Amino acid sequence: MLKVEKVCKDFGAHRVLDGVDLAIEPGQVVSVLGSSGSGKSTLIRCINGLERLDAGRITIDDFDVSRPRDLVEARKRSATVFQLFNLYPHLTVLQNITLAPLEVLRQARAEAEHRAIVLLEQVGMGDKAGAFPAQLSGGQRQRVGICRALAMNPRYLLLDEVTSALDPEMTAEVLTILAKLARTGTTMLFVTHEVEFARRISDRIVFLEHGRLLVDLPTEAFFAPEVGRDHPRIAQFLSKMR
Ligand code: ADP
Ligand code: MG
Repeated sequence: MLKVEKVCKDFGAHRVLDGVDLAIEPGQVVSVLGSSGSGKSTLIRCINGLERLDAGRITIDDFDVSRPRDLVEARKRSATVFQLFNLYPHLTVLQNITLAPLEVLRQARAEAEHRAIVLLEQVGMGDKAGAFPAQLSGGQRQRVGICRALAMNPRYLLLDEVTSALDPEMTAEVLTILAKLARTGTTMLFVTHEVEFARRISDRIVFLEHGRLLVDLPTEAFFAPEVGRDHPRIAQFLSKMR
């Protein structure tokens, strides 16, 4: 289980996460909605152990990301795909995907490369193993980003607005892959602006506003009219996104 408990994060005098509680069970897809600046990326960075928490605790399968000696194990269990693909430009697609399995998981090269090719084939890019990132479209780069995360065999996949830098056609390519991952039981924390897509694939939806979780509800309940009535901010957000 991935657990976020009463987490606070400040940047100077600005409280960016304010008592966030969130738990994700294996196999669940949880989407995080919220306007720009509400703290979504900061939450993902805290889960990755990239930010020091000012209060609270985050554990991944009981490994505490704030404890240096737990962090390596915590990081092995989760992998993140970012908005901007941040692939290494000087490495081929295959090298980008196999780097961490070779260095961190100490896999044998043949095994890591085989797995990378299988993943690339699953996202329709079996012929691009030798290409460099600059030779790929944005959608293809993001598909490589997803393969790179999956190559670590993470128990939890974190996705931070992975389609927001893509045009609609490329967005559709990437969402198709994510839908397939969701169907096959991949555990995901999915930060997105794709409200309709989130509705289709999520077990739960949480809404973040000024660093607070306003609601954490099963997907159908989140879209019920009462939620909009009780939370005008959510109604406003949903009407803007559609
Ligand atoms: P979101 O991903 O929901 O758009 P972020 O988590 O990126 O929101 O940012 C939440 C708030 O924290 C914003 O007001 C942002 O300006 C601020 N913030 C994020 N990172 C930093 C930082 N490293 N230093 C100072 N302020 C930051
Ligand atoms: Mg963000």
